Amino acid sequence: MQKHNFSAGPSILPRVAIEATAQAVLDFNDSGLSIMEVSHRGKDFDAVMNQAQALVKEILSVPDGYSVIFLGGGASMQFCMVPFNLLEKKAAYLNTGTWASKAMKEAKGFGETVEVASSKDANFSYIPKNYTVPPDADYFHITTNNTIFGTELKEDLKTEITLVADMSSDIFSRPVDVSRYGLIYAGAQKNLSCAGVTVVIVQNDILGKVSRHIPSMLDYRTHIDNGSMYNTPPVLPIYTALQTLKWVKANDGTAGMQKRNQAKATRLYDEIDRNKLFKGTAAKEDRSIMNVCFVMADDYRDLEDEFLKFAQSRGMVGIKGHRSVGGFRASIYNAMPIESVQALVDCMKEFETKQ
Ligand SMILES: *Cc1c(COP(=O)(O)O)cnc(C)c1O
Repeated sequence: MQKHNFSAGPSILPRVAIEATAQAVLDFNDSGLSIMEVSHRGKDFDAVMNQAQALVKEILSVPDGYSVIFLGGGASMQFCMVPFNLLEKKAAYLNTGTWASKAMKEAKGFGETVEVASSKDANFSYIPKNYTVPPDADYFHITTNNTIFGTELKEDLKTEITLVADMSSDIFSRPVDVSRYGLIYAGAQKNLSCAGVTVVIVQNDILGKVSRHIPSMLDYRTHIDNGSMYNTPPVLPIYTALQTLKWVKANDGTAGMQKRNQAKATRLYDEIDRNKLFKGTAAKEDRSIMNVCFVMADDYRDLEDEFLKFAQSRGMVGIKGHRSVGGFRASIYNAMPIESVQALVDCMKEFETKQ
């Protein structure tokens, strides 16, 4: 049976990226060796690293004065690396969910941390608006897509101070004006690659301004100066990332991704709103085009397990909602074809007629 992978992360990747990676694991560039066996400083891997960096710059139109680096440690490592490198006195955070809260928690160890607004009062079902960011903060941290709660900040905010964004679950899903941001980071395993690498895009001149000592491995400048090769980088996830980036470029880049993603999200949200058995959990204007969260409507709550089993029997994978929201979550990242979204919609329709 065909599987439709709606997992939140690690998650679906373009088939071509998986196949190219499988090939490189067996025989990298006709070298007779696996990519896992060769030096990261050899010319073949060096080309992979350079191409991956160049494609991130090209696809996101990264302006001059920014660096693209590939780091280990996951997006969670960035929760502490950001304040380590940028927080001198005060940092501002927008609290839009579990990941935002975790990022803020780490900052507290480095200086004064201001929560400018939070949507915790409504289980993070919306993005707060109308808040004031303290003008003397060293940076303002946002999470553009809240993977667990299915809300998304769809515009590039305009801020006077340095804007830092966790884009782990929506990077490359839409065009972004990188010049609005001082630093963008994204763990790879949602929209880019397998787990193990995090891409960081950083404006060079925001660095070097804090007075504390920064250990070499946690200092962005170390990785910029060494082309992400200060130590052995996560070679395989970087290779897969390159294959995904080539696929994004070949499919009209972020504009093409946005168009596809919007069509997919509309198809699914329309069915959630139409079908009497289901209801969405996120505020309509803040609905994510990457993670679609929904629950059984009040009158049909006892059907939750039954629908889950029914969907699984039709090949749906990974649609059980996160425990903090319950119900269902369909993650429809870049690589998810609209046919799979339609398969889920058909499943919802069929389940409704059975009631
Ligand atoms: C998944 C995720 C993280 C955590 O990523 P790790 O690589 O597991 O540390 C952080 N932020 C967001 C928005 C995520 O979706």
